[in-house]
Amino acid sequence: MEQNKQDKLDRLREEVLACTACQLHKTRTNVVFGEGSPDAKLMFIGEAPGYWEDQQGRPFVGSAGKVLDKLLASIGLSRSEVYIANVLKCRPPKNREPRPEEIKACTPFLDRQMAIIRPRMICTLGNYSTSYVLGKFGIKAGSMSSVHGRVYRCSSLLLGEVLVIPTYHPATVLYKPYMMDTIKKDWEVIESVYKSL
Ligand code: SF4
Repeated sequence: MEQNKQDKLDRLREEVLACTACQLHKTRTNVVFGEGSPDAKLMFIGEAPGYWEDQQGRPFVGSAGKVLDKLLASIGLSRSEVYIANVLKCRPPKNREPRPEEIKACTPFLDRQMAIIRPRMICTLGNYSTSYVLGKFGIKAGSMSSVHGRVYRCSSLLLGEVLVIPTYHPATVLYKPYMMDTIKKDWEVIESVYKSL
């Protein structure tokens, strides 16, 4: 592991833990910075912490996290080999949707996380991360049904060349179980692109 990357992430984490830049700091239990390998080739970006994430200070540890773990296992990967983060680092009360001013306040942290890790692939989980990440590369994301499973070849000075693959948030299958087949097909794309890196 590149120690430099870990050091940079540790310093950034300290900064985020003390953040009061938006109203969500008032209601959070814990900041959910993100976790995984600083050398990950594949980074997953979700929306925001939910109840269990807020309780534990870790990303994707509730029901949606169990779905994510299964999907990761289905392509032969574990959490320790990838990096998992969210657009927002603090839980919106009652899991309401992120507000534009919260996204604006928080995403500089995500930008810095991505710039430190410099993944070769980013898998966006759900609408918010998809529109934020593709938007960074000047791509206006359409609906999830039109962008999921597609591979976007992107590049920027900050991140270099990166492949962005949007897919549905794992929580989708909790209220729409029939979506699992669609999501699995997206993950087959993720697996094949990952293996080609
Ligand atoms: Fe700071 Fe982000 Fe938490 Fe808002 S959500 S307080 S910007 S860390």
